[in-house]
This record gives sequence, structure tokens and C-alpha cells, in this order.
Amino acid sequence: MDLKLKDKVFIVTGGAKGIGEAITLELAKEGAIPVIVGRSVDEANALAKIIKKDGGKCLVIVMELGLEDVCKNIVDSAIGAFGRIDGIVNNAGVNDGIGLIKGSPTEFKRSVLTNLTHYYDLVHYAIEYLKITKGSIVNISSKTALTGQGGTSGYAASKGAQLALTREWAVELLPFGIRVNAIIPAEVMTPLYTKWLNTFNQPEEKLAQIVSKIPLGKRMTSSHEIAAMTVFLLSERSAHTTGQWQIVDGGYVHLDRAIS
Ligand code: NAP
Repeated sequence: MDLKLKDKVFIVTGGAKGIGEAITLELAKEGAIPVIVGRSVDEANALAKIIKKDGGKCLVIVMELGLEDVCKNIVDSAIGAFGRIDGIVNNAGVNDGIGLIKGSPTEFKRSVLTNLTHYYDLVHYAIEYLKITKGSIVNISSKTALTGQGGTSGYAASKGAQLALTREWAVELLPFGIRVNAIIPAEVMTPLYTKWLNTFNQPEEKLAQIVSKIPLGKRMTSSHEIAAMTVFLLSERSAHTTGQWQIVDGGYVHLDRAIS
């Protein structure tokens, strides 16, 4: 299937690692131009080298998301380099374990700043350009928004708000033909996931316990499977899909737990 993404420009936050890296590479494979935003300089540059070696184009922007004006600078840089923006993948986030009991109001607000506000800021500053291209927005949320996890109020609140904003923006942007969808991953092996697993005394046992409860294939979702859904939602092949929450999790959240 030709996704018709050639030479289209997509901003991918957290685009150098984990799920974001897979999305960046999938976009490049389709001939699109990823704008890789994140704070991992070495990883981002290494990725850009791979893309350029294969004849592709991309831009690396090293920024800490959440600070004022950062998203405006990202949009200005993308426009300066390529003159257009065809879509945004809001992906950068950290499951930072700021809980109700183990946490504080200050930490909660900081967590929301790190995980949520840049999703709004980036789309806000890019909107005039997205109107021109009838762009597409994909928000990467998390199953914690639907199930809770315990001990991670800031992250779960942000992930829930991302789902609400997906529906809210889908409505607001209907007149401009801009589509907005969310993806809900559950268990994907990435640097973030490894870090979270290592907070348990016996990470390998914890992992085996989780994997045994994933109905389809008793395995983790791969970051490439999240990327494939993302790139489809960015493309005109999903032209009549908006305001949706696509759950890519091997049936982990919704299939009957009695299934063995
Ligand atoms: P990851 O491996 O940590 O990669 C995320 C990237 O985003 C990292 O490079 C990180 O930088 C960067 N980043 C995070 N916050 C940032 C900020 N404020 N400013 C700039 N860069 C920032 O994470 P992942 O597992 O791929 O997760 C990607 C998305 O998927 C997140 O939104 C997460 O909530 C969601 N998700 C993941 C899973 C899973 O199982 N992995 C499940 C559900 C949802 P550093 O390397 O410096 O931290």
C-alpha cells in the first residue's frame, strides 16, 4: 500500500528513542521527512545519520519539552528548513511515578508539564501550517489512562487528558480537514519500559507475569507495531478516521482475562 507520504514533513517528539525512534524510521522508509525532537543528542544524531545514509532527509531539534516557547521554536525551525508541516506525532513522555501518596502538588504539576502541556503547545503553534496541508495529528497516550496503574497520578492524568484532547481537537479541527487520533499502547519494550521494570526487585519475574497476560501471542507489542499504526493514521489512507483511540496491545486491556 502506498501511503503517499513522500516529502511530507512530520514532527515527532521523543523521536530518537523507543516508540518515537520506530515512528521516525517508518516515516523515513516511506520517503517522508521526520523532524526528530528530543533531548537525546547522540541518539538523535545517530538516527539522522542512518536516514541520510539511505538518501532520506530529516532534521534534529534538541529541546527540553515543557518549557515556554520551546514548541514555537520547533515549528519555526521545521518551517525554516522545509517550508511545510504535514503532521505532528505527540509522543514524548515519562512515566515518572508521581503518585497521590508518594508525590506532592509541586511534583504533580511538574509531571503534567513534562507529559501533557507540550502536546497542546506544539499543535497550537503548528495549526496555521496544518490548515494549509490538511494535516494529521497523532497523540501517543497510554493504557494507564484507561486502567490506572497506581502511584503515577501525574502521568495517568496527562495520558487521560491526551485522549480527551484528541476528541476535542478532532471536533475543533473538522472545518479544516485536519484529523486527530490517539494511539494507546500498553506494554512495549523501550528504554522507558526497561527503566520502569527495573524499579521492581525482580524485573524478570515481573516481565514474565505481564507477558503471560497478553492474550495475542503472549508477547510484548513491538515499537514497530505502534509505528505502523501511527504512520497509517498520518497518511491519507486513513482519510475518514478522526477522533479515534486506537488500542494496539494484543488484546491486553479489553479481552476477557478468563481466556488462557
Ligand atoms: P522512551 O523510550 O523513554 O522514549 C521517549 C523519548 O522521549 C526519550 O528520548 C525521552 O528523552 C524523550 N522525552 C521524554 N520527555 C521529554 C521532554 N520533556 N523533552 C524532550 N524529550 C523528552 O519512551 P517510550 O516507551 O518510547 O514512550 C513513548 C511514548 O509512548 C510516551 O508517551 C509513553 O507514555 C507512551 N507509552 C509507552 C509504553 C511502553 O510500554 N513503552 C506504554 C504506554 C504508553 P530521554 O531519553 O532523555 O528520557
